[in-house]
Amino acid sequence: MVDVQTLNKAFIAGEWVNTGNTFSVTNPATGEVIAEVADCGSEQANQAIEATANAFQSWKSLTAYERSAVLEKWGQLLREHSEDVARTISMEMGKTITEARGEVNFSALFIEWYSQEAKRIYGTTVPSQFPNKRLLVQEQPVGPVFAVTPWNFPSAMIARKAAPALAAGCTFVVKPAEATPLTALKLAQLWEKAGGPVGVFQVMTAQDPVHVSKVMMEDSRIRKVTFTGSTPVGKLLYKQAADTIKRISLELGGHAPFIVFEDADIDQAVEQTMIAKFRSIGQSCVAANRVYVDKKIKDQFAEAYTAATKKLIVGDPLADETHVGPLVNQQAVDKVDRHVRDAIEKGAEAVTGGALKEGLFYHPTVLLNVNDDMQVVQEETFGPVAPILSFDSEDEVIQKANNTPYGLAAYFWTRDLGRTYRVAEALDYGIIGVNDGVPSTPQAPFGGVKNSGLGREGGPWGIEEYLETKYISIGLPS
Ligand code: NAD
Repeated sequence: MVDVQTLNKAFIAGEWVNTGNTFSVTNPATGEVIAEVADCGSEQANQAIEATANAFQSWKSLTAYERSAVLEKWGQLLREHSEDVARTISMEMGKTITEARGEVNFSALFIEWYSQEAKRIYGTTVPSQFPNKRLLVQEQPVGPVFAVTPWNFPSAMIARKAAPALAAGCTFVVKPAEATPLTALKLAQLWEKAGGPVGVFQVMTAQDPVHVSKVMMEDSRIRKVTFTGSTPVGKLLYKQAADTIKRISLELGGHAPFIVFEDADIDQAVEQTMIAKFRSIGQSCVAANRVYVDKKIKDQFAEAYTAATKKLIVGDPLADETHVGPLVNQQAVDKVDRHVRDAIEKGAEAVTGGALKEGLFYHPTVLLNVNDDMQVVQEETFGPVAPILSFDSEDEVIQKANNTPYGLAAYFWTRDLGRTYRVAEALDYGIIGVNDGVPSTPQAPFGGVKNSGLGREGGPWGIEEYLETKYISIGLPS
């Protein structure tokens, strides 16, 4: 059984560090403080930079096979300790233990995939027009990386960034979200156990992200920033990266449309919308935020969807039978509540749920009679609320789906092959699920367009974000 109280020190330069200050981590299901964690400031940020810059020189010089072996071991240990990590995730952020186990598996898949991909960072030779020249292109690690991660996937968001960065030969400092530092520290324990070299992977826990982040962003030795979180913070880091011309990847907010056409397999669409909507209690950047159903089948869909939602068990996230745990904090509850109340005031009907809450638990809600003026249609809700809207034509629903500054994930359900291509190509989103509510997988590119971000995570695209292209022109002596 995991003892989360022992996860209380930051992991900097291969040492477990107390800083003299701590901050509390609260279990959202019970309201209990479950750990007091070292609160890092600019001193620790400077130490982390020193260590990451030093470690970069030796880590990048290892062979790809040596780096691969460390990652492989890390992945194996994550699988061996998966139940501990899953419980840690569930206790600090509230997702159900079943989903937390899924997240640990997803994280291990990333580490495993990139442990192999480390060996496939190839260069290129380019033909020259001169007989005595040879033109080579090599891919080299971009340098030390600073990662800032959110609380909604405390393990997967770190694994998805660290695995390709480390495989590429970069060193890595992560500042996890203040709500979920424990899972990050658990990953650091496993890294140490795997024999990961000093300074290559570091975890800098902090209550206030601004001080440590400022130091990292201003130091020119940090060559790459990778961020997952909200769009406003992403924009801030993008601006801060300019002064030292750091490479940057941003995985930001989403506002996913979920479209059900009249020819869809309705049972499958209902089942998958349940996952796309309620996974992680709706606190996922790719959560279905707006459900558009063809007018001809809307009543049938809404009835089946409402019935399925009513069956969801809300309760203790550590219990195997629970489907829906608490939201992460009071602000999250307040935002969801504001969206639901606004919709009801503007004429929506909550056919289940609807401002029913206890502590941080918010009951899964289905809204009908929804219109475009409601906040729930305009903003990312980040909670267990499904607004169901209807449409008359393919053109109309594409226009509505694209009418947002976001462009992360979109989903649609159809059996028509022509429509599959037409709609997939017309949607302004980085990820499209066609008859698939869970498209994310380690070997495929994940990322958004417009205000949803820059760059991709996963597959060969994910490792490119951590590589610099170097051109070498060789003149052959005669
Ligand atoms: P957030 O932006 O508030 O926090 C994310 C991280 O940024 C945390 O570690 C936080 O400490 C840090 N941070 C906050 N202010 C900062 C600042 N001024 N300088 C430096 N760091 C700062 O986001 P959140 O509430 O934790 O996460 C929810 C958001 O993340 C949602 O919008 C969601 O859609 C998005 N998200 C996106 C993806 C994706 O892959 N696109 C995945 C998960 C979550």
